[in-house]
Amino acid sequence: RTSINADAIAVEKRWCAQNYKPLPVVITRAEGAWMWDGDGKRYLDMMAAYSAVNTGHGHPRILAALTDQVSKVAVISRAFHSDKLGPFLERLCRLTGLDGACPMNTGAEAVETAIKAARRWAYRVKGVAADQAEILVADGNFHGRTTTIVGFSSEPAYRDGFGPFAGGFRIVPFGDAAAMEAAITPNTAAILVEPIQGEAGIIVPPDGYLRRLRDICDRHNVLLILDEIQSGLGRTGHWFAHQHDGIRPDGLCLGKALGGGVMPVSAFVARRDVIDMFGPGSHGSTFGGSPLAAAVGLAALDTIADEGLVERSATLGAHMLSRLRAIRSPAITAVRGRGLWVGVEIDPSIASARHVCELLMRQGVLSKETHDTTIRFAPPLVIDHADLDWALDRFADTLSHL
Ligand code: PLP
Repeated sequence: RTSINADAIAVEKRWCAQNYKPLPVVITRAEGAWMWDGDGKRYLDMMAAYSAVNTGHGHPRILAALTDQVSKVAVISRAFHSDKLGPFLERLCRLTGLDGACPMNTGAEAVETAIKAARRWAYRVKGVAADQAEILVADGNFHGRTTTIVGFSSEPAYRDGFGPFAGGFRIVPFGDAAAMEAAITPNTAAILVEPIQGEAGIIVPPDGYLRRLRDICDRHNVLLILDEIQSGLGRTGHWFAHQHDGIRPDGLCLGKALGGGVMPVSAFVARRDVIDMFGPGSHGSTFGGSPLAAAVGLAALDTIADEGLVERSATLGAHMLSRLRAIRSPAITAVRGRGLWVGVEIDPSIASARHVCELLMRQGVLSKETHDTTIRFAPPLVIDHADLDWALDRFADTLSHL
């Protein structure tokens, strides 16, 4: 018999743009860190939807906030006030130590918001001449998929055929603070980086990198804007990855887990003089900051705090990292990560990362390769210790049979 799974894959393939290459599994239900396919087979989620599901699938508290709010009022646009947006953004600002926030939906929109704020700040506060503002970004960056954002990507696959691109960006090697400082000119508005590069393969920069960038930005009157869309909200064992360096950015892009694993919720959070660059008409989003998004976002933050998920990520993450480092396999060439966020580098002469992910899938563990050689392990932060160990056993077993 053809299973629900085979049918669903065929229909999706026929009608959906082929802009992803999913593993051949059809998820029909999920709870916590577990997912089920159409035949009832169970899989442990070691991806958490690229860290959008830090609080786990179908968290009762988030579902309660969602259903309660949706039954009252969900979407009103920003043409009117709601009783939910203020408390959500106050919580977000107090958590980040920043002064104000602009609510959006997707990560790419939060980054676009940051770019607009930084440019206006350069013209209106720093005094850069019109249309001359520059933003420094890192080699290997991933900030989203809009034409402006892919225009400053260093990955040909993200850019090919999509030009012409917006100017005003310069790419500098990641992890090299001196190179970043050397690239600064009087027109530099901001440095925009991920504290740990996720899509590049969980690339952890040298210790103190962000502290050095903070110092450089202070000395040159340049904004430090961090994209913590994937690294934030507990993923690395701190609320935000920049806290490992004990610094505070001038602007912070958040998304993914801010939506509690149920809807897109993002924000650009910044210090007062940066967020104040936006006046009426200068920026907006029909759905951004809706009562529904705000209620879900607040519930997501409360859940991460009240369930100790940040500490859980630190503890379980250290355990996962040491267990992965202890696997003796010629297939593993590197293990990198922080918190419940690890990239395992696979020797391409032994197997592709894709092939290992397909073998893991058969064993009931779902992960996904990034590029050709890296396997990402980033489970929901609510994952059970024993379940995590089970997945790591399956991984070690898979490698031993390559
Ligand atoms: N920034 C970072 C660091 C990301 O990892 C991602 C998504 O993977 C994005 C931005 C884009 O987010 P979205 O897909 O919600 O636009």
